[in-house]
Amino acid sequence: MRELQLPLAGVCRCGQIAIRVTRLPLLTSACHCAGCQKMSSSAYSLTSTFPVEGFEVLEGEPVIGGLHGTDVHHYFCGHCMSWMFTRPAGMDWFVNVRPTMFADTGWFRPFIETYTSQMLPFAQTGAMKSYERFPEMTEYEGLMKEYDAWSRSRFTPR
Ligand SMILES: [Zn+2]
Ligand SMILES: [Zn+2]
Repeated sequence: MRELQLPLAGVCRCGQIAIRVTRLPLLTSACHCAGCQKMSSSAYSLTSTFPVEGFEVLEGEPVIGGLHGTDVHHYFCGHCMSWMFTRPAGMDWFVNVRPTMFADTGWFRPFIETYTSQMLPFAQTGAMKSYERFPEMTEYEGLMKEYDAWSRSRFTPR
């Protein structure tokens, strides 16, 4: 794993939507839930959570998709349909970005994995902590502190 270099630049598969991140991630995760399996067409989704003030769409107009009757807003490129980032309604201080959009993915590793209750039997993520569903909302502050210490121990000081 390499050190995370800011800013992080990313694009969708076709390149029409460009994003940039200027803050360090608050948490990284993999989700095994059936919804993420469908949306990612894979065993699990990957998430890097950033403070909203450190995230911007530089080019293009992402469209909302992945609708399933909740207030979670999943943003896609309307052309190539890449699932790029997610903004949970009512929690507008962070944005969950799919790390595979970034040009540099070498720094990414999921710290937690969620919904192992629905995981495919072969699916391994290398996450440090596993949850059968999601952590309790009250656990996230502590998890972000643990992630910060864990990621600093892996990256050289800035
Ligand atoms: Zn695209
Ligand atoms: Zn999920």
